[in-house]
Amino acid sequence: MITFKIVTPNGVTYEDDIEKVTIPTGDGEITVLEGHVPLVSTLSAGEILVHKNGQIVHLAVSTGILEIRPNSEVYLLADTSERAEDIDVGRAEAAKARAEELMKQKDALADVDFARIQAMIERETARIGVSKRYRDVK
Ligand code: ATP
Repeated sequence: MITFKIVTPNGVTYEDDIEKVTIPTGDGEITVLEGHVPLVSTLSAGEILVHKNGQIVHLAVSTGILEIRPNSEVYLLADTSERAEDIDVGRAEAAKARAEELMKQKDALADVDFARIQAMIERETARIGVSKRYRDVK
């Protein structure tokens, strides 16, 4: 078993003992099973798949940090994270459209603003994708 916890500034969004979890990291997607080597990595916006008792829990996550400890404890410190069923797709689509509108002025944007807007687009794209895939598999 793995002890898995997702912590955001709004609190703990997921906490359970699980069998397996797939996580989007800065170096690509990884799947963590019990006994995984210790690791610290960045989190990328994307989808978390938690496997437990033959069920899969789908969550969207944005940027953050991932820590795998030696005793199969896996911690994600993320800016945001939502369970697929809690995602408001309309809100994510509206936020993505606003960010894309801002991106049109990219020649006038400072690098830091460009990076922020890019991150917003990736966060909303992850929410939309997770929500839609969840509805497809249900
Ligand atoms: P918006 O522009 O739509 O207000 P945002 O992308 O600026 O959203 P965030 O800063 O990413 O919002 O998140 C703020 C809080 O709202 C977090 O707790 C996040 O989990 C939640 N949240 C954001 N977007 C959604 C969504 N589409 N569905 C459900 N919860 C969301």
